[in-house]
Amino acid sequence: MKLPHNRTWYTKKLVEKAKRYVKLRDNYTCQYCGKKVEGSNCHASHVLNVGTHKNMELDVMNMKVLCSYHHMHWWHKDVLHATEWFKEKFPDRYKYLMEQAKRKYKHSTADLAILHDETEADGSDFLKKYNRLFIYGERYE
Ligand SMILES: [Zn+2]
Repeated sequence: MKLPHNRTWYTKKLVEKAKRYVKLRDNYTCQYCGKKVEGSNCHASHVLNVGTHKNMELDVMNMKVLCSYHHMHWWHKDVLHATEWFKEKFPDRYKYLMEQAKRKYKHSTADLAILHDETEADGSDFLKKYNRLFIYGERYE
């Protein structure tokens, strides 16, 4: 069956939804300085680099809200040091991320299409559906 969109399209849409979920979860609050942020000042930022860890691009456990200042001038200025901060603040999530990072798999475009079709536009059910499909689901490799 031919899908209506390609992999790049689904990935882009799903990253947007995942980021909406993360902003709701983190209550639009910079996880570093505690400041409330909105609009373009509110960044959902990845923890592990998604160029290296392509399979973790849509994993909301791999994202946190930062204000634009701390995203650009703190996180990206010294990622190794900032990652140490994350590890101390969220030890369980960091452990999960390390386990996921070892797994080499790629979500199929068909699965990305299912995730896109089954999740709400506001991102509210993203984690639940993602886990069902990719973490606890049969498709997980
Ligand atoms: Zn901040």
